[in-house]
Amino acid sequence: MQFAHDTELALVEAAALVNTLSGTDEYLPDQAAFADFLARHPYSGQILGTQQELESVRALRPELRSLWEAPDRDAAALIVNRILAESDARPYLTRHDEYDWHLHVTEPEAPLAQRIAAEAAMAFLDLIRMDQLGRLKICDATDCDDVLVDLSKNQSKRFCATGNCGNRMNVAAYRARRRQPQTS
Ligand SMILES: [Zn+2]
Ligand SMILES: [Zn+2]
Repeated sequence: MQFAHDTELALVEAAALVNTLSGTDEYLPDQAAFADFLARHPYSGQILGTQQELESVRALRPELRSLWEAPDRDAAALIVNRILAESDARPYLTRHDEYDWHLHVTEPEAPLAQRIAAEAAMAFLDLIRMDQLGRLKICDATDCDDVLVDLSKNQSKRFCATGNCGNRMNVAAYRARRRQPQTS
């Protein structure tokens, strides 16, 4: 199963944004943290750097997370349609910088939160119509609710992208095995 490159990228970006609220840990506490996030996850178009912009982007996280928590495709489709409507998504073809004709769904001057939401919704839309929602996973570690997008061929990913959870759980499993009495 192959997704368009921009679909994969938008899904990974959406997961990264959702995970900036990790349990009760806020990783976008202020403008500086947000600027740092945007440097690592660049979005084209206008960025104002205002408090209101930051707050509206933070407010997207629960709505995007709800896609990971949606019980089925029908529920997910409703969420995607709502986000598309709220973000005023209108597909059009554009050509800029080194990129040939491709799809945009918001104007570059639209508010950043709207552009992020619309881009994410278009990617989720792809997952739903290809019946691949199972790729949206929540980290399997006992004390972590971070989200992940499993783009691997055999869909075997279990832990969030930090890498910490996988290591931690492997160590725990190893110790548990060691504690068991030897049978030989
Ligand atoms: Zn573009
Ligand atoms: Zn995790």
